[in-house]
This record gives sequence, C-alpha cells and structure tokens, in this order.
Amino acid sequence: MKESLWIKNASLECGYTEANGIVTGTKTECFHVLLTDGRVENVVPATSDIPDGVSAWDAQGLLMLPSFREMHIHLDKTFYGGPWQAVLPAPNRFFRIEQEQELLPRQLPVARERAEKLLELVQSHGATHVRTHCNIDPVIGLKNLEATWEALATYREKLSWEIVAFPQHGLLRSDSVSLVREAMKHGAGLVGGVDPATFDDDIEKSLDTMMDIAVEANADVDLHLHEPGHLGVYIMKKLAAMTKDAGWQGRVTVSHAYGLGEVPTAVAEEVAELFAEQQIAVMSAVPIDMPTIPIPLLHAKGVHVGLGNDNITDHWDPFGTGDMLQKANRLAERFRWIDERSLSRALGFVTGGLTPLDQAGNQVWPKVGDEANAVFVRAKCSAEAVARLSPKEAVVFSGKMVWQKQ
Ligand SMILES: [Zn+2]
Repeated sequence: MKESLWIKNASLECGYTEANGIVTGTKTECFHVLLTDGRVENVVPATSDIPDGVSAWDAQGLLMLPSFREMHIHLDKTFYGGPWQAVLPAPNRFFRIEQEQELLPRQLPVARERAEKLLELVQSHGATHVRTHCNIDPVIGLKNLEATWEALATYREKLSWEIVAFPQHGLLRSDSVSLVREAMKHGAGLVGGVDPATFDDDIEKSLDTMMDIAVEANADVDLHLHEPGHLGVYIMKKLAAMTKDAGWQGRVTVSHAYGLGEVPTAVAEEVAELFAEQQIAVMSAVPIDMPTIPIPLLHAKGVHVGLGNDNITDHWDPFGTGDMLQKANRLAERFRWIDERSLSRALGFVTGGLTPLDQAGNQVWPKVGDEANAVFVRAKCSAEAVARLSPKEAVVFSGKMVWQKQ
C-alpha cells in the first residue's frame, strides 16, 4: 500500500528578483507538496484543494529546503551526551593517538548511546545523511564499529548513512591492514586512511594498500589528508594517478586536503583539474584556524565539495555544533559570499548540490520524482537561512516526518 503525506502551505523559492541585472532578493510562493513512498509526487499551489483521507502536516508558511548531508563526522568517540571534559594540549597528533589507546576502551560502554545523541543533534539541525569515520585500530579493534552500527540501526528510519573504516592510528604504522579488511566485511562501506607520509612513513605503500583493500571490497575510499603544502599536493597527485589506474573515478574522497590551502593558486588549480578529471571529491570542515582550502576554486573547476562538522566536542576538539547550516554560513563568510545569489548557492555545499534555484534563478527543487528529504526552516529564503542560521522546525526523511521542534 502506498504511503503518502501532504505537506501543506510550504513556502518554496520560485526565482530571484532582479533590478538592472542585479539580484535584489528571492521570490517565494506557498505550495502543497505530496510525498509518496519516499518521493515527491505532486507540487500544487496552496490555493488548490487537497483530498481528504491522506495524512497531512501544515508547514504554516515555513520555508522548505533540501535536507542536509553531514559528510564528515566521528560518531564513535565523542564526549557529547556526557559530562564536559577538557581537551588537553597536544604537542602533535601522536599524543592524541596515545590518549585514544586509553580513552576509547574506557568510553566503549557509552559509545553507542553517545553516537545516538550525536545523531539526534545533527538531525535536529536538518541532516538526513551522515558519513561517519569509525576508528579501526589495534586497541579498539572492531568494537567502535559495532557500537556505531547499532546506533545507526536505531536511526534507520530517520536517516541514511555511510561508515568509513578509519585506521586512525595509521594503516601501516599500527598494522591495521587486516583489521580494515575485516571491517569491510562487518558493516563498513568505505575504506579510510590517514596521512600516508606522517603516519605511515611510506606514501606509495600506504596509498597502494588502501586502494587494494577498496578494490577487493568493491568499496569507495575516503582519505583523511592533513599533510601540509607541497607534500599534501604530491600525495593528492599520487592518489589521482592510482584512482585512474584502478578505474575508481567517482569513488574517491579526500577529506580536509589541507595542503591545498598552503600552495600557490596555480598549483591548487592543477590539483583541482586532476580531481575533476578523476571525479575525486573533497570534504572540508571549513577550518579558519589555518589557511582555508580554496573551495570556490575547486567548485569552479568542477570538483564536488561537501562539508562536515568533523569532531564534535571530543578529545581532539571542543568545538562543533552539529549544524550543517553553520558550515555553509562559515563558508559564505570566509569567502565573502555576501550577495543574495552567492549566499543561496552556499546551501548546495551542505545538501549534496541540491538548491531550490539554479544559478540563473530557475526553480529546480522540489520536482516530482525527487527524494522526499527536506528541512523546514523559519526563514524567507535560502540566503536568509545561511546568513542568519535560521531555526529549523521540522525534518522529513524519505517522505516521513522524522523530527519536529518540541
Ligand atoms: Zn575526521
């Protein structure tokens, strides 16, 4: 039997207002939107009558936007949901790894519960998809993966997810190769990696091993790459070459790619072109405590860029709000996207590219057949939502209401 929900009186963006060739605002109108079996089935003006006997929810003029995709988070080692704990000063990343060897086993009994709290947080901010990097290391083995899986399973009706098997302590350095292979058979969908020079001390072998596991498991790849400047660029070029050799186009992501923020524009352009050719995506948390990578340049060259909160209040980092809109806001502010069109385009970086209007201002979302994933925001338009971090009031996933503000 079909499952339908009418969203009544949703405000949808219909175009830009313009004067003398300049965008001066966003036009919205009120619609009823029918969601059936996880898809948009119909969009009609709010003046139309809708049939009785179908469940309905009145949006009362709230702005309907595509829901958000949290593309880089660590659900498995957060302090969130528990008491506040101080982040200790660390001379380097290896100090954090030593900390984890004691901390993760201690946190294991609450790992599932905290992951669920974090999922609740990101969903309350409008996300219906998460990509989580889960520690796979010799101390915790596959236990965090199990806890992550269980937490996600409780959310299976509320969001979609991807789990990356993340050898946080170094794929080669901590001898985690067979553990990552195991993880791929036990619920992880993507192969992760971390800093093949700093952690593994063997760029070629580290990348090769990661790609081998991915090909064996027929899985995508998401590599944490914090390596600086030209070292980072060298690794990105190597990875692009390996992606080509493996025929893994469209299946590789570089998370952070910090090096791109520290090299001349011409060098970053060269990498962007390679990434576009190999359809390698970049995920960023839009850091502002270091040179931010040139996200506008990557986007202009055709590289898919997604955003994520990364660590949310854990032993690595006390910050993180769980709000993807805040990441779009930071991206816009960092690159001075202050005009109406630029602000509204910033939304696409947290929705997997979906925006209500296209670059020219034509309405392109929601259309009949689109996945019925949406967030309802107390704002007039996307630009306001991004600039003012407007409050979220409700979230729909796969055609069902999954969260509403109390
Ligand atoms: Zn991370």
